[in-house]
Amino acid sequence: SDGKKVLVGGNWKCNGTRDKVASLIAMLNDAGEFPANAEVVIAPTALHVGKVLDEVRKDVNVSVQNLWSEPKAGAWTGELTVDLVKDFGINWCILGHSERRAYCNETPEVVGNKVKIALEAGMSVIACIGEQLSDREANKTMEVCKAQLDPILKAIPEGAIGRVVVAYEPVWAIGTGVTATPDQAQDTHKELRAYLSEVVGPKDAEAVRIIYGGSVKGANCEDLIKKADIDGFLVGGASLKDEFKQIIASSA
Ligand code: PEP
Repeated sequence: SDGKKVLVGGNWKCNGTRDKVASLIAMLNDAGEFPANAEVVIAPTALHVGKVLDEVRKDVNVSVQNLWSEPKAGAWTGELTVDLVKDFGINWCILGHSERRAYCNETPEVVGNKVKIALEAGMSVIACIGEQLSDREANKTMEVCKAQLDPILKAIPEGAIGRVVVAYEPVWAIGTGVTATPDQAQDTHKELRAYLSEVVGPKDAEAVRIIYGGSVKGANCEDLIKKADIDGFLVGGASLKDEFKQIIASSA
């Protein structure tokens, strides 16, 4: 990942009792020095984000898991707007996670709009894309990823591409225990970078971090991170375990 910081994201999803969150904060705070080229971002639930922000070590960035599709606070029951999130000092968001695409009807256009809102407000974005198993079996991986990526790329304001991280998360690998092999992940990351290069130019395409997500664990992170186009991870299940430290350490 030549010169780029390795991004290690932890997506806690809808998990975490207060006790569990306290122990995860302690786990991170007691983990010792992170590798110099690791950039760590964790996304607790909206309920826990304030506590995490107050108590976690300052070299752990805190993220929300979603944003509302309008930029300003107001009559949006149950939602979080970018201005409120920023007021809290939170500068990261995960957008377009496959669970939100699948269960909350987030279309590629909806995700693109949210990316625009977040970037215009100065936030950094982990934008998630990825194909279903049936897409992969039909040789449609890149077609599906491009259709998800296009509205995201169109949404990037001038000069903001440095705040975009693309998370390639094949849906068949999320929460299933089936990880893409390092070669499978590398092949898709390489194709994604080539596509980025066509759309945004080679310099920006090289600088954008493309991170892999889908059953990343302590046991497979070392082999994945060795690959030329894998610039970090988005971790679900294993971010709720002690082994998240090991995944952070793999960026050394
Ligand atoms: C995720 O939710 O982004 C994810 C990759 O989950 P898991 O690591 O549990 O597969």
